[in-house]
Amino acid sequence: MSIFTKKSFISFVIPVHNEEEGISEFLDTRFFPELAKLKYCKTEVIFVNDGSTDKTLEILQKYAKKDKNIKLVSFSRNFGKEVALAAGLTYAKGDAVITLDADGQQPPELIPEFLEKWFNGAEVITGVRDRFTKHGFIARTGSKLFYWMLRKMGNSYTVPGSTDFRLLDRVVVDEYNRLTEHNRITRGLIDWLGFKQEYIEYTYGARMAGKPSYNTKKLFHLALDSFVSMSTTPLLMLGYLGGFIMLGSFLLGLFCIINQYILGDPLHLYWNGAVQMTIFITFLVGIILVAQAITALYISHIHAETQGRPLYIVDKKASRNL
Ligand code: UDP
Ligand code: MG
Repeated sequence: MSIFTKKSFISFVIPVHNEEEGISEFLDTRFFPELAKLKYCKTEVIFVNDGSTDKTLEILQKYAKKDKNIKLVSFSRNFGKEVALAAGLTYAKGDAVITLDADGQQPPELIPEFLEKWFNGAEVITGVRDRFTKHGFIARTGSKLFYWMLRKMGNSYTVPGSTDFRLLDRVVVDEYNRLTEHNRITRGLIDWLGFKQEYIEYTYGARMAGKPSYNTKKLFHLALDSFVSMSTTPLLMLGYLGGFIMLGSFLLGLFCIINQYILGDPLHLYWNGAVQMTIFITFLVGIILVAQAITALYISHIHAETQGRPLYIVDKKASRNL
């Protein structure tokens, strides 16, 4: 069955923050024409106005006035895109939810491709930036480093270049809505949930207008947050470093004692009290680092408990006779 003739209910979630310059053009010339092609589907569009300080809210209200299926969730202030997405997902009622940016960088022309994969059984379809996407040097290197570290930290399931242009099946949205943690990276959480994932490569376009709200500093914090929320490896590395220092200074101390007091300094090093003291202090530093890492491990366990993630996620569609 063609995707254009199948009946279903699709929600779109669009986080919007200060996009007055480009949003009307994006919606009128690109987004709504794509929606119009899905004649047989029921659709709803949920805009989440994330504390815009320009005319964005008025513009969105005008759209919502014209059409009941255009819904608007307006935040009292800026809470960030991750939270805006989360809010949109709790209001979305469709059998599938597609999230996309309001700036035209994620081409709505690909919506049929997402739907096609969904109709064929995929439950999470993630848009991935392809190799034609233009990046600045810093962004490119930063993102490479980010995924390298993510992999090193044991998260091998996040595909490099994943974006928040995504389709989620109802089963995934329901599970996502149960997650209560505050410091959230949507991408990481969706990957953590599992389910049948597929990917669509696309070229991240240029903004239609306006400036990106995410600058290098914000992105850096986002990256830091995802490490902290997804893994305890940074803590362990600190412990390993301490262990390494402890072992090294212990061996050096042993060598010093044997060389000086047992063999009578045949190497003529003339190591005096200051050197011995230095070795001893280094040893103590090692102990402190190890002790700190152990404390940190306890904290990370507390952290994991307070995140309150469900113990497991059941794929309700695949399960039987429960
Ligand atoms: N956005 C948001 N809240 C924010 C920052 C951005 O809802 O605090 C929205 C923004 O309006 C856009 C999307 O999130 O629709 C992506 O933002 P941006 O283009 O700044 O990020 P990038 O394209 O660099 O990922
Ligand atoms: Mg953008």
